[in-house]
Order: sequence, then structure tokens, then C-alpha cells
Amino acid sequence: MIPAPFTYKRASSVEEALNLAAQAGEDGKFLAGGHSLMPLMKLRLAVPETIVDIGRLGELSYVREDDGHIAVGALATHDELARSGLVGSKLPLLAHAAGQVGDPQVRHCGTIGGSLAHADPAADLPAVALALGATFRTRGPSGSREIVADDFFLGLFETALQPGELLTEIRIRKPQSAGWSFQKFTKRGIDWAIVGVAVQGANVALVNMGATPVRAAAVEGALASGMGPSQAAAHAADGTSPPDDLNGPRAYREHLARVLVRRALEESAARA
Ligand code: FAD
Repeated sequence: MIPAPFTYKRASSVEEALNLAAQAGEDGKFLAGGHSLMPLMKLRLAVPETIVDIGRLGELSYVREDDGHIAVGALATHDELARSGLVGSKLPLLAHAAGQVGDPQVRHCGTIGGSLAHADPAADLPAVALALGATFRTRGPSGSREIVADDFFLGLFETALQPGELLTEIRIRKPQSAGWSFQKFTKRGIDWAIVGVAVQGANVALVNMGATPVRAAAVEGALASGMGPSQAAAHAADGTSPPDDLNGPRAYREHLARVLVRRALEESAARA
């Protein structure tokens, strides 16, 4: 439970964070809320040589309207998103899901940028970002770029971010449909999802049904072809590869996905 030795550097600006990360190279890691990275380091599943602490960069901690989008700084915490009046009124799916992450301590420290960059398939906000059709702004050694959520999650804990590339902002257009739902099945209230579902309009995304958060493409196709919630939800596990672990075998998760997607589609339709 003690991390391997590492060098700690605290950045006082985005520019400095990028320079420090460039100096650290592939053995460097950004530290935001620390609620995913530090547990991994204590288990020595992550052994970065240099930590670049971005946790106090106020310039990355905001929620604001910008050019038809809601722009969320990467360092906005789950608690800030859950309590934000702007997020609550324009993106209630995000506000609600952020309020379901872990417990109050986790929500006060953990950041949306950390959750997305960490890319745990059991995490809530990556699937929410998929359902909301989010775009991610980054800055790195090769300059700035925008990555759509559908292209961001590449594999288990693997994203399109390059070494030294900082996720700076999450941009989400105000949804056209008012219908949304977030369903999270847990053993205890504060647990990670055994399976989760995020729905925004006709977009459906799944938590913990594969190595990455995934769009439920078969459900979306069924809805587009005119099927109702029950019929479409029957396709929730099509094309997925959920884990088989102590929280439940694969067939159990497939069943949960079908049940939760049906509930989510019905709740979303009732709100639309
Ligand atoms: P950190 O731990 O600081 O970083 C995580 C990774 O992302 C690191 O690799 C880091 O280098 C990288 N990173 C961080 N910020 C950036 C950035 N801006 N640009 C590029 N790379 C970056 N999550 C859920 O979704 N649902 C849960 O129910 C849940 N329960 C939890 C319960 C516990 C007890 C704990 C400890 C965590 C739980 N989490 C849960 C995870 C929590 O949401 C984390 O806060 C989040 O996943 C990571 O955010 P962070 O700011 O702590 O990132």
C-alpha cells in the first residue's frame, strides 16, 4: 500500500503543466483529484517516475456557456457538476450522474477530466459523455485538438490522449431532446456500477459492458427503425463483451443491461 518512489512537481499554469509533462516524457503522469491514480500507485499497478500535479489550476475549473455549448473545465469536480445550476438546467443527465459517483469524499476530489482520462469502463461519466455526444479539447506536445467522445475511448484504461497531452475542456451541445435517464445498478449506494445506462434522446451508452464505455448501437438502431422501448431494450447486450467477475457473470450483466435499458428508455420518454 505504499507507492514506489516518484518525483512530485506542482504546476501553476497549464503552460507549466505541459512543459513539466514534456520533460517527464512517457514516465510522467498528471495528477488531478488523485482518486484513481493514487490507489493504482499504492497497489503499484501504476509506477510513474514523475507526477505533475494539476489539481490547483483554477483556469481548468469552470462550467460556462460558450457558443451554443456547455463548456466544462477538466478540473470541475463531480460535486461541482452535481450542484451546478447551469449543468442541472441544461444537462440534467450529467448533473444527476455526477451526483451518483462514489461517496461525498470522492465527489469533492474526483474530477470529470480525471474520470474521462482514466477511462475505467466501470466509471459513470465516460458513458454519460458518449450519450451526450461530448467533444474533448486537449493541449499537448503537438498542439491543441478536439476529439469526439466516440473516438476517445480506445481500450481498457486506454484513450486517444498521447503522453503529455492534457485534457482541458469537455464541450457539450445543449441536447435537442429533453428526454434523459441514468440507471446505475449497484450492490450498495456508494459502489461502482455493476452495469449502468445513460440515455439522452436517441443516444444510449452502457457502463461496464465491455473494455470501454460503449454506445448501445443495436438499441439505437432499433429505436431508429421505430421499435418501442421494450423491443429496443431486448437488444441491449448485442455486440457487447461484459466482464465475468465476482460482481456477476457475463449472462447476469447482459440481463441487467436489457432491464436497465428498458427502464432508462421509459423514463427518458416520460421526460421528453
Ligand atoms: P486522478 O486519479 O488524478 O487521475 C486519473 C488518471 O487520469 C491519471 O492517469 C491521470 O494522469 C489522468 N488525468 C487526470 N486528469 C487529466 C487531465 N486533465 N488530462 C489528462 N490526463 C488526466 N468513479 C465513478 O465513475 N463511479 C463511482 O461510483 C466511483 N466510485 C469511486 C469510489 C472510490 C472509493 C474511489 C476512490 C473512486 C471512485 N470513482 C468512481 C473514481 C472517481 O470518480 C475518480 O475521481 C475519477 O475516476 C478520477 O478522477 P481524478 O480527478 O481523481 O483523477
